[in-house]
Amino acid sequence: MLSPALVERLNDQLNFELESAYVYFSMAAYMEGQSLDGFAHWMKLQAEEEIGHAMRIYKYLTDLGANVTLEAIKKPPCDFSSVLNAFETALKHEENLARRLNEIAGVALSEKDNTTYQFLDWFLTEQVEEISSVGTVCDKLRLIGDNGYGILMLNTELGARQKEPAPQ
Ligand code: MG
Repeated sequence: MLSPALVERLNDQLNFELESAYVYFSMAAYMEGQSLDGFAHWMKLQAEEEIGHAMRIYKYLTDLGANVTLEAIKKPPCDFSSVLNAFETALKHEENLARRLNEIAGVALSEKDNTTYQFLDWFLTEQVEEISSVGTVCDKLRLIGDNGYGILMLNTELGARQKEPAPQ
């Protein structure tokens, strides 16, 4: 039922979601190196969410009898100049994710594949939330600047992030 073009694009997206998890794990490791355990906790939860996104696509493809093809994962960035630099990199990454998902949704629309379009709708909404939450942290970090106390306050705030409940 899925067209070969959509199977290819969904597989590509599945791999990119796993690459996103890798990016966030790399950022978590950088935060650990700075003794910012709250930031690292936030990044690790973000990475887990990305794996969840990949598995949503995995399930969709396998439920419809399409092949899942895993590719090599690109080496993530690891040489961040600051916490803000890492979050700005994360924001660019999330914007890239949103652009890709929009493109796939466009293909589903052009093929009149409403099932896939509806499946992607959740991701499109999720991307708005991701861009908003990462963008808010970037804004706060710019306000804080080099103030160590401010960084520690934000570290505590991000360390309180709860794991999202599994989707129904
Ligand atoms: Mg994602």
